Amino acid sequence: MAATINILPEHLANKIAAGEVVQRPESVVKELLENCIDAHASSIRIIIKDGGKTSIQIIDDGIGMSEEDASRAFLRHATSKISSYEDLEHVQTLGFRGEALASIAAVAQVELKTSSAADEVGTLLRIDGGGVKERGKAGIPRGTTITVKNLFFNTPARRHFMKSNNTEFKHIYDVVQRIALSHPEVAIQFVSDDENLLDVKPSTIDERVKDLYGERFFETLVPVREHTEMLSITGYIGKPDFARKSKVDQFFFLNKRYIVSRSLNHAVFSGYEHLVEKGNFPFYMLFIELDPEKVDVNVHPSKMEVKFADEQNVYRIVMAVVRKALGMGDLIPSLNVSQSGTDSRTATLQHTAFPRFLSPQPNSAVGISKQFLTTELPLQPLPTANAHSFDLEKLFAAQPPLVDTNTLAPETKNQLFAHGTREGEIIEGKAIWQLHNKYILSQIRTGLMIVDQHVAHERVLYERALASFANAVPASQQLLFPHTIQLSSGDYALIKDILSPLQSLGFGLKLFGKNTVVLEGVPPDVKAGSEASILQDILDEFKNNQHRVKLEARDNVAKSFACKAAIKAGDSLTEVEMRVLIDQLFATAMPYVCPHGRPVLVKISLPELDRRFMRTS
Ligand code: ADP
Ligand code: MG
Repeated sequence: MAATINILPEHLANKIAAGEVVQRPESVVKELLENCIDAHASSIRIIIKDGGKTSIQIIDDGIGMSEEDASRAFLRHATSKISSYEDLEHVQTLGFRGEALASIAAVAQVELKTSSAADEVGTLLRIDGGGVKERGKAGIPRGTTITVKNLFFNTPARRHFMKSNNTEFKHIYDVVQRIALSHPEVAIQFVSDDENLLDVKPSTIDERVKDLYGERFFETLVPVREHTEMLSITGYIGKPDFARKSKVDQFFFLNKRYIVSRSLNHAVFSGYEHLVEKGNFPFYMLFIELDPEKVDVNVHPSKMEVKFADEQNVYRIVMAVVRKALGMGDLIPSLNVSQSGTDSRTATLQHTAFPRFLSPQPNSAVGISKQFLTTELPLQPLPTANAHSFDLEKLFAAQPPLVDTNTLAPETKNQLFAHGTREGEIIEGKAIWQLHNKYILSQIRTGLMIVDQHVAHERVLYERALASFANAVPASQQLLFPHTIQLSSGDYALIKDILSPLQSLGFGLKLFGKNTVVLEGVPPDVKAGSEASILQDILDEFKNNQHRVKLEARDNVAKSFACKAAIKAGDSLTEVEMRVLIDQLFATAMPYVCPHGRPVLVKISLPELDRRFMRTS
């Protein structure tokens, strides 16, 4: 049954966010598509010409309109979707303003053909620049076809404001894509200048994403699925190593409505913190479902901006679920993912001195590995240990909190983090080897895991460095004989700038003037024998990072330290050292990518091996 259209009473109409809805062809397509969805269409065709400037036709098989409603539909504030202020407070439809058809008809030549289930024959209506030109009958199946020709024909200034056909087309494509993604159950066909650009059948969201982006792209996504009392979030986020410098697609859908939210966008970025470098953009597509009463969609004429009743909590939950998904998703690149070439930093060093922290700790490593690998992500920092002790407790002390769980309600906390372990990747014990003093090979439940020892250690040290920034008392190893280091004046100036994060890391530094510093202590992770050179190495790496990517100074210090203090390719490791390293790696918030975004580990699944050996079982 077609709904009945009423004209909103003035007091209610006045409460509707005012503003122009028709700015360019894209806005027409958006409004008309929303109407199709609200009319429960199961199939929509969009046919445009010249970027929508000369013609936009949208054909749906929705509930249609009666003859009477068809003429009312073009009046201002005519809507079947709300009739009272209370309705406005829990709008379930995409439209509710009753302005779109009126605004479109005022600036274009519009033809409407519509037929509802009750009609024997449909209705035809032609309107030019707001004036009715023709009323009649139309023999069409149930549904609505609206054709909008010569947009802005009567408003030359706005006509000239439109961009090239190609630009307008791209905007329209974006709108079609958003509707296609938010409504996978609807078949959608999109034809532009006689070219069939999209023709998708009703399907699941997974299939729809593959239809639009391709199978390969789909494999670069991590699924997100979280239900809390307050809201549910589902969708996908891109694996960090697929983040791109250029603009990538990023979507928030709130109750199936595409929205733009700087704050939620920020929440996602915070979720990726330290996994993608500044200036790189991860793909995301997140569907938030929330009680309509907890959000106000009546804040902007295009309804793309919304106001959450509890924005802070929504922010926190979005950030937490992104972090959780990144920590748990299968971020391990499989073997066919190509890695970028050699890394100049992993120069071969033939020494056998190991970082002190890797020294074997009898009996303790194995137990801890079990504990960490089978429990959920460590969310709270473990108790901070005494700066000078070297027990394993301390090794794991530097867990940065994934999210400030204290700020979440207990129920939210439970719901967010109750499930999910890394069990699938647990190292199953006995078998572990070092390959060419560079890679650690280990059996995992699903096959073989190959870890790059340098980047793995880098990830461990990086997280520890971040945690040390939060500690009041830095862990520092007092040097028996302080080193006096002469720096270039540039480096001396730099060290003054980053003195505080360096000290937090555990560098006991005194500035002596005349480009001279005295190093009295180093972080416990610094290799014995490299105390004098590590500082210069860090400064060089810092400058390198500063030059290549714009990193925040503290983050840069952490990354530079991690890179320079980490074990290198060429360092031979004992079995216990390998195990401790892997335990530590899996105790990090993000074991799968190094702070620079390179993969830490690669796995080869048993089926993959079987395929290579042409084994059928
Ligand atoms: P709104 O969507 O805010 O209600 P519109 O101006 O977009 O306002 O549409 C006015 C009314 O016309 C709608 O409330 C709906 O009843 C009717 N309508 C518009 N498009 C369609 C359609 N494709 N199928 C059925 N009814 C429609
Ligand atoms: Mg509408």
